[in-house]
Amino acid sequence: MNTNPKTSLDLTGKVVVITGGSRGIGAETARSMAAAGGHVIINYRRSEAEANALVGEIGGNAVAIQADVADPAALETMIDDIVARFGAIDVLVNNAAVFEYNPFDGDDYAAWQQGWRRTFDLNVFAAANAAWLAMRAMRKATSRSSAGKIINVASRAAFRGETEFADYGASKAALVNLTRSIARACAKDNIIASCVAPGFIETEMAKPELEKNREEILRQIPLGRVGSTADVANVILFLASPMADYLNGVTIDINGGSWFQ
Ligand code: NAP
Repeated sequence: MNTNPKTSLDLTGKVVVITGGSRGIGAETARSMAAAGGHVIINYRRSEAEANALVGEIGGNAVAIQADVADPAALETMIDDIVARFGAIDVLVNNAAVFEYNPFDGDDYAAWQQGWRRTFDLNVFAAANAAWLAMRAMRKATSRSSAGKIINVASRAAFRGETEFADYGASKAALVNLTRSIARACAKDNIIASCVAPGFIETEMAKPELEKNREEILRQIPLGRVGSTADVANVILFLASPMADYLNGVTIDINGGSWFQ
């Protein structure tokens, strides 16, 4: 147990909201945040059994809340409910996202548009809306001793350009920029923002690409392995902790050296 406050990842008493916390990177982030003493709100859309199992695993420091965060009304209801039940939001992790193939050389114009719309509705608009709603609640919590934090989960795709999922790459680039805008606009309200840009991580989302191209993907990674959910959750925990209180607007690559911004 680290008892030195200068090197502490302690989140005791902090209310941490994680969108898409039922599986993958979001679930591991919930485990890390709770282990550091945070009270974690695990949002999910469909995976009720996984979300409840995670709450059971973590214990008293976690609750699960169902909401499709791409639905602006459901998102507002969820944020209001969290503030009513827990009094505040200290950290929001915008993690929920969709990843689908949508190639430039497809034949179906309607499908192309639907892909971009689904991707932006969740990956961009839900994140911007959640940030706006969380910040509204953070501003009202006048007794806050530490900064409110918005942490966005982007991707290496934000920087690289993508050949088969341009909508996904563009949505993640938008998150990098949203992070910088919040950083510049909201520090005056004691609210700061940061972002992570993972490369390939072993989750359900990455499974189709890893099944199709694992050897080629491994060749691109100097560390020679695909990332784990803990590789990402550890950095998000650091960003949420007092150790990172002077980071504002940054995006941290977590990709084993496979791409540099
Ligand atoms: P994942 O395993 O597919 O998990 C996605 C999570 O998002 C699930 O908990 C899912 O819950 C939730 N979710 C999906 N739609 C939702 C909605 N409309 N409302 C609320 N929750 C919703 O994905 P992951 O790999 O952990 O990805 C997490 C984040 O990391 C994403 O932002 C992703 O873009 C990013 N990322 C991942 C990788 C990678 O290689 N895995 C690489 C770079 C970036 P339900 O099942 O309940 O719907």
